Amino acid sequence: MTIRTRFAPSPTGYLHIGGARTALYCWLYSRNHQGKFILRIEDTDLERSTPEAVQAILEGMQWLGLDYQEGPFYQTHRFDRYNAVLQQFISEGKAYRCYCTKERLEKLRAEQTANKQKPRYDGFCRNRKDQPANQPFVIRFCNPAEGEVVVDDQVHGKVVFQNTELDDLIIARSDGTPTYNFTVVVDDYDMQITHVIRGDDHLNNTPRQINMLLALNAKLPLYAHVPMILGTDGKKLSKRHGAVSVMQYRDDGFLPDALLNYLVRLGWSHGDQEIFSRDEMIQFFDIKDLNKSAAAFNLEKLLWLNQHYIKTVDAKIIAEHLTWHMQEQGIDITQGPPLTEIVLIQRERAKTLKEMAEKSRYFYEDKIDIAAIKPEIPPDILPVLKKLHEKLSALQDWSAVSIHSVINASAEEAGLKMGKIAQPLRLIITGGSVSPPIDATLQLIGKQRVLERLSKVL
Ligand code: GLU
Repeated sequence: MTIRTRFAPSPTGYLHIGGARTALYCWLYSRNHQGKFILRIEDTDLERSTPEAVQAILEGMQWLGLDYQEGPFYQTHRFDRYNAVLQQFISEGKAYRCYCTKERLEKLRAEQTANKQKPRYDGFCRNRKDQPANQPFVIRFCNPAEGEVVVDDQVHGKVVFQNTELDDLIIARSDGTPTYNFTVVVDDYDMQITHVIRGDDHLNNTPRQINMLLALNAKLPLYAHVPMILGTDGKKLSKRHGAVSVMQYRDDGFLPDALLNYLVRLGWSHGDQEIFSRDEMIQFFDIKDLNKSAAAFNLEKLLWLNQHYIKTVDAKIIAEHLTWHMQEQGIDITQGPPLTEIVLIQRERAKTLKEMAEKSRYFYEDKIDIAAIKPEIPPDILPVLKKLHEKLSALQDWSAVSIHSVINASAEEAGLKMGKIAQPLRLIITGGSVSPPIDATLQLIGKQRVLERLSKVL
């Protein structure tokens, strides 16, 4: 059997990190079993779905590197198929037209509530034989009246639902459009999904979906409902807790691998290992190791992981991501050191790529705010810096080691500690008081630019 998983987001906003985690689990499981991962856009809610949101999902999946072997499928392209199944259900007596008016349903609901019963449709139209002309109708699924549905959930264990609790679900609205639970069923069936991994907010939909799948004589998929991600206050993660959109994490300077590594652990574990390469995740991931209880989002841990990845991943790969941030911040990187060099010199000093970009502007830009740095430079250091300028001009070998000896020699000559020179020098060259070691910084900025910046201030 080929394992087939799917990620089925509704395009009503951005790609939420909870969704990304679900997508990751589906992706990992299919990878682990050499199966197929399918992307399905559930866009039948025409009022809430937008093309921008579809784009955001596709972009998020691409940035995360979660590739799919089939799709994206769009539910709005499949209405003919849904209609065919609706007709099939009606002709097989598995669904029926319901002509009940709003008034009748409201009255029914009021009576049931008054009798302390759970409001549910009473099946009035189930056995109705007439077909009133020109009267609007919805289509309802004939849910089995008795018995139970056992969801053998891979995370929550066996969850039992009584059919008496489930009424005859509306599967097509009066305008003929199919409803959510029905389209999911037709798609999971047609796409031969073997494993449904999704948020446990869908657990209550599952018995209804199972009943419809059985009506289609489908082989049931295995279900795994993963607990929600919580905020630090124990409530469901939402905007109030900070960024929830995947692309916001890109904008904030996270590496996709760090985010995936973070998300995989948020609901799954493999011993006490925290850091997983993509290959390791694929190799170790198993549904049976999904956690039952919800995990809380922890930005500090994500930052820690991000920093780990910034420090250890191939500088070329980091540089590719950093390019985007430099552009975002309007830094022209065509004139200046190769970005891989920036990564190598800055990787120990930045928790995010955004921060790295912010801290690297001076490698590419010569703008010096003389008025701002002037008060920070003791006047008696100026002659020393002048001499240093001469020495640096004469320096043939523009390497960090040689630059270091020149600065050191200038300091010794003036009877000063090296820091007394290095700090004003740093201020002049970088515009700030924090940078990587001054010699390596000067080397990377390049001789000509260093001399120009120095002369300008002197
Ligand atoms: N479209 C649903 C959602 O975005 C997911 C449905 C499913 O996975 O079955 O919540």
